[in-house]
Amino acid sequence: MAYDFDLFTIGAGSGGVASSRRAASYGARVAICEQGRVGGTCVLRGCIPKKLLVYAAHFTDEWQDAAGYGWHVAPPVHSWPELIAAKNKETTRLEGVYHKMLADAGAQLIEGHAKLIDAHTIEVNGKRLTSANILLAIGGHPVTPKIPGIEHVISSNEALDLPKLPRNIVIVGGGYIAVEFAGIFAGLGASVQMVIRGEELLNGFDDDVRIHLGREMRARGIAIHNRTEITAIKKQGANFSLATKAGGSLSADCVMYATGRLPNTTGMGLAEIGVALQPETGAIKVDDWSHTSVPNIYAIGDATDMLNLTPTAIAEGRALAETLFNNNPICARLEIVPTAVFSNPTIGTVGLTEAEARAQYAAIDVYRTVFRPLKNTLSGRAEKTLMKLVVDRASDKVLGAHMVGPDAPEIIGGLAIALTCGATKAQFDRTIGIHPTASEEFVTLRTKVPDLKAKAAE
Ligand code: NDP
Repeated sequence: MAYDFDLFTIGAGSGGVASSRRAASYGARVAICEQGRVGGTCVLRGCIPKKLLVYAAHFTDEWQDAAGYGWHVAPPVHSWPELIAAKNKETTRLEGVYHKMLADAGAQLIEGHAKLIDAHTIEVNGKRLTSANILLAIGGHPVTPKIPGIEHVISSNEALDLPKLPRNIVIVGGGYIAVEFAGIFAGLGASVQMVIRGEELLNGFDDDVRIHLGREMRARGIAIHNRTEITAIKKQGANFSLATKAGGSLSADCVMYATGRLPNTTGMGLAEIGVALQPETGAIKVDDWSHTSVPNIYAIGDATDMLNLTPTAIAEGRALAETLFNNNPICARLEIVPTAVFSNPTIGTVGLTEAEARAQYAAIDVYRTVFRPLKNTLSGRAEKTLMKLVVDRASDKVLGAHMVGPDAPEIIGGLAIALTCGATKAQFDRTIGIHPTASEEFVTLRTKVPDLKAKAAE
């Protein structure tokens, strides 16, 4: 049967656009359907606008540090509305770039809500179209727990477009989004309280990273209420009162929930045509090749709820286009994926945490340093940088590299190449560092952290 298209992508975010462009470059007839603005979470509601706000917040550190270097700076004044307007201008520009990239690639943009009728038929705006292959790149959305008063809270979507900077904000959640927005709001002058149900921030990250970040965020004036759960939220005039499970209460003029995201898999007819979903999350089940349970339907990115990161969605999308349209079967390798958290201070991490390495290897060595960056000497800033390497004792292979401190994402991005190549600690040691930088510490780590657990077991 002749189909209208070779590939019909649903969702024009980073993954969908990357896959569609790559497929079209090989001559495939490609349509890409989007019900909102082109650009997706990363460009419009996530990575990019968030990082622009992070830059804005970090200027506060620069003003403060400048005094130690002889600058006399009048107390600076920040305009939140000007920042938001500038950010919106940039995301709109990027949206235009995405439109142009799709047009230049020859992919046809179809605006509207797509619904699957069968394995090859899609309905958009009442019109039915057919395609040999369908790619679901439909992203995710923030989720909040069902508690009384939850209608009063904002998510990261609204946080990026608030009409004014909150004076005091409570942020519930301790994941990527929560710590990043805590840094943004605190840096711009708001009083910030975080509420987490566990002991430390950033569940799943290396414990040293979690403890170090929490300590430095507290030192920056952010209150972190751990082992705390919010049971109800009440509006009281211009403020909100939050009741805790332990019987306490918190007050704020803005309440943000960053309690995770779930895939956008409802209302599209997916289950009806046999696309298998995870029962708890609604995530689309896929294999390593992005196949769903329906042979010609594929899914990538946040819709699969595996690694919800832009570069992995792009890698999966491109691998699929190579496989389907360039006779070049590529399975997006996702074993070693570096990640960054744009908290203040920032985090970069790649490979295994110490706990993961201990669980998977017979014996490991840990190298760790905590130091005051050179810049902080004259500025007088007390903040310290943490760096850590986790090494397999038997093979000498570096299993994980973790950093909290200025430029951590940039430094770890480079180290990710070394770990992907399987670098050993001896190869790290043979590498000449650049002086004076923070990154040189990663190639001059000599002293192992005493292995107390192994000692105790002797
Ligand atoms: P995360 O899954 O990272 O964190 C969710 C947080 O909310 C956790 O601290 C979790 O606690 C807490 N939580 C979940 N449910 C509840 C609840 N009912 N009550 C109280 N707390 C709760 O989600 P985010 O929303 O921060 O981010 C979503 C995803 O987006 C991330 O996983 C990441 O992949 C991606 N992202 C990546 C960024 C980057 O690369 N820099 C930036 C932003 C987002 P607990 O740990 O106890 O479960």
